[in-house]
Amino acid sequence: MAETKRDYYEVLGVEKNADDAALKKAYRALAKKYHPDVNPGDAEAEKKFKEASEAYAVLSDPEKRRQYDQFGHAAFEGGAGGAGGFGGFDFSGADFSDIFGDIFGDFFGGGSRRGRANNGPRQGANVRKGVRITFEEAVFGCEKELDVVLKEPCKTCNGSGAKPGTSPETCPKCGGRGQVTYTSQSFFGTVQNVQTCPDCHGTGKIIKEKCSDCGGTGYVSTRKKISVTIPAGIDNGQSIRIREKGEPGINGGPRGDLLVEVTVSRHPVFGRQDMHIFSTAPISFAQAALGGDVRIKTVDGDVLYTVAPGTKTDTKVRLKGKGVPSLRNKNVRGDHYVTLVIQTPEHLSADAKEALRKFDELTGDSLNQAKAGAAEKKHGKKKGFMDKIKETFED
Ligand SMILES: [Zn+2]
Ligand SMILES: [Zn+2]
Repeated sequence: MAETKRDYYEVLGVEKNADDAALKKAYRALAKKYHPDVNPGDAEAEKKFKEASEAYAVLSDPEKRRQYDQFGHAAFEGGAGGAGGFGGFDFSGADFSDIFGDIFGDFFGGGSRRGRANNGPRQGANVRKGVRITFEEAVFGCEKELDVVLKEPCKTCNGSGAKPGTSPETCPKCGGRGQVTYTSQSFFGTVQNVQTCPDCHGTGKIIKEKCSDCGGTGYVSTRKKISVTIPAGIDNGQSIRIREKGEPGINGGPRGDLLVEVTVSRHPVFGRQDMHIFSTAPISFAQAALGGDVRIKTVDGDVLYTVAPGTKTDTKVRLKGKGVPSLRNKNVRGDHYVTLVIQTPEHLSADAKEALRKFDELTGDSLNQAKAGAAEKKHGKKKGFMDKIKETFED
């Protein structure tokens, strides 16, 4: 896979701002031209078909398209720690046909997209497993152990599904090919419609006497513990691919993949958007007026932030590099934005009330001198301390 990949927009021949309808139209045209069922045995056409399908799979998914626009092909390549890519999509096996079911369904007919050579080696199905992690675990990464139920080849029959001492027989319906071919007409020509053999379900073999341990399936379900490295910077809804930890392959094919879907719990203090963290921090009126150090909670622990004298409520401060690390490079971090909120004092002691009254008198006088305070005083309505706080909040 060392060859350079073409730009997905270029592959589909659409503009960067193409909408869904334009993407679908461009892809349908290419798929019609290059689909393997229309070009049997043409390797170049198959390559083009796969290229276009991959481009469409990414660009038709808003989240993947956003990642692609941001990172290019790098967005879907293998990630840190050998955990595999983060894209969470698959271009082989069942997933592939699921993605394109809506497109092929309407002009190739149901069965044709099921792939050819059904009794050849095929990769097993992917397994999806959810995991819930905390906000901090998402920020800094973590290790999790997952309980996954996976199929393993049955030891009694060595995976053949046949009772020990007997062996599976070649399916008479398909002659062991695992598929049956029908030819049909469609609006753009003759189409070979290949379907999985209904008698042997694609295995090419019929089991007369079933193994009693696995019921003839050749597999038994076993519970496994699989540890997964969740990279720093992962966000809610993203998934991690662990290669070949899914269901067993068919006819000697590799196992499917395990897709670990990450849910990040809400945090009582922190919010997050991409690589940035948001929170509010209370400061006292005295701190706001006089300035001073306030303690602010960050994912790295409390930090002291020096508030300037005369700070207003809702002042936003940026704590550089205290945000979420980039998935691609954990040394690159976003920022933490803090909104400072002035707390109005409640439950005051008699002494504190007295001090505030005094303060109110003092500041009321000094401020009103600058304005036409004398007139207000005459009516006994000078602006008090609480009025000023109210004004600050109404700003
Ligand atoms: Zn068995
Ligand atoms: Zn068959």
